[in-house]
Amino acid sequence: MTFTTRFAPSPTGPLHLGHAYSAIVAYDMAESEGGDFLLRIEDIDQSRSRAHWEDQIYSDLKWLGLTWPQPVMRQSERQQTYNQALDDLWDRGLLYPCSCNRKDIAAAASAPQEGAALLGPDGIIYPGTCHVRWQGTDLSKRARPKDQPLRLDIAKAANLVFGDTNPGGCFQELGLGPLNESGHIVFTPEELRATIGDVVLSRRDMGTSYHLSVVLDDAAQKITRVVRGQDLFEATRIHVVLQALLDLPTPAYLHHRLIRDEAGKRLAKRDDARAIAKYRADGASPLDIRAMVGL
Ligand code: GLU
Repeated sequence: MTFTTRFAPSPTGPLHLGHAYSAIVAYDMAESEGGDFLLRIEDIDQSRSRAHWEDQIYSDLKWLGLTWPQPVMRQSERQQTYNQALDDLWDRGLLYPCSCNRKDIAAAASAPQEGAALLGPDGIIYPGTCHVRWQGTDLSKRARPKDQPLRLDIAKAANLVFGDTNPGGCFQELGLGPLNESGHIVFTPEELRATIGDVVLSRRDMGTSYHLSVVLDDAAQKITRVVRGQDLFEATRIHVVLQALLDLPTPAYLHHRLIRDEAGKRLAKRDDARAIAKYRADGASPLDIRAMVGL
């Protein structure tokens, strides 16, 4: 199997030092392994994606000295694949429509009997309001609604893919999680229920979600090693469950440290001051950028 890795930016703002670090780490690894480095444009959120940011991504990565094969995969062209997977999960009774908004979720999750709301990879862990509403209804007999968010019944999913096996799910971590997790990472169905909850797999405005598209795209691009920031370590358990449900291979993961500002805060898209384009305009060289991120 050819070593294949990827960099998967969203064209919703300028690439900053954190992106440069992630892309260069993945690129250098592909070079040293004699493998492939692929680029993927994660533009499912059409309300925030912009063509000029996509052009800027190509320009900045080229300037950094990176090359990648054409054509570049763009998520906005893959809705059919996402729909097929959603239909499959829906027909197996693993999804349900959710009509809760953020306020409803925050209120239900922090109701007095619930204690403090717990946070998962997608924010507040869904308290299950709509799950209860649909209990006892065989939704797979109905057509999959296209105009409502759909959530994955994580308990049912975990039961289906892991059954009674203990611990349940696993993946290979070649980097470090936020609590220095490394090596053979295992997790139980119970942990999934308690720390992840029923995540959204199809958003009303997108017709898919990050979690669903990322596993389908990594499989379609035959990615053998996912290189990305530590902030996505927790989400990897969702990805492993989806891979098992959809019969897709689980790549090895390398979660790397995050590049932070002087105050220790991780960089965000709005940190224009640390945009690669800004450093370029100020006369920095690609080697300067490597040095700035400790490479
Ligand atoms: N599109 C995601 C981001 O820009 C990357 C997701 C991933 O690498 O899995 O943060």
